[in-house]
Amino acid sequence: MPALEFRSVDARFRVLVPGATVRRLLHLCRSSGRRETGGILVGRYSAGLDCARVGAASGPPKDSVRGPSSFQRGMKGLQAWLERRWASRGDHYLGEWHFHPYAPPVPSDTDLQQLGRIARTADYRCPEPILLIVGGDPAGKWSVSVHIVPSGQPAVPLQRLQDPAEPG
Ligand SMILES: [Zn+2]
Repeated sequence: MPALEFRSVDARFRVLVPGATVRRLLHLCRSSGRRETGGILVGRYSAGLDCARVGAASGPPKDSVRGPSSFQRGMKGLQAWLERRWASRGDHYLGEWHFHPYAPPVPSDTDLQQLGRIARTADYRCPEPILLIVGGDPAGKWSVSVHIVPSGQPAVPLQRLQDPAEPG
């Protein structure tokens, strides 16, 4: 599975999702059937802070509420997982991901409001969280969208680079 790379039009934000993480996301989506699922993303920023590299995606905490077109991420076990990732890899919280089963990966108003709240919550220490959505059929034709939701500002859609090796 090749890595996915996303970039804002002004090139201020870049997000890199390694192939292993894409595989894990698709696996979690496949095992979720027709219900939404999701979790958090952890990883690291580049030295210039312009590129976030996703190191891992959590599955849905046990206290999450999963519906056919809604997902409320729970908290259970996340803090311990975050601490383990931090200790072993230096990964920290980057944002959220969830699955729109057999639907386009377009963020709903609720999705953006949730991320806006996270951006403003000091506990997360993440004023520019990433929102990653997997849409479509995780065993067939799927697609991924990535937005950055800066605190107090409109969401910035990132575009997928079709061939990260090519310039432009
Ligand atoms: Zn959604």
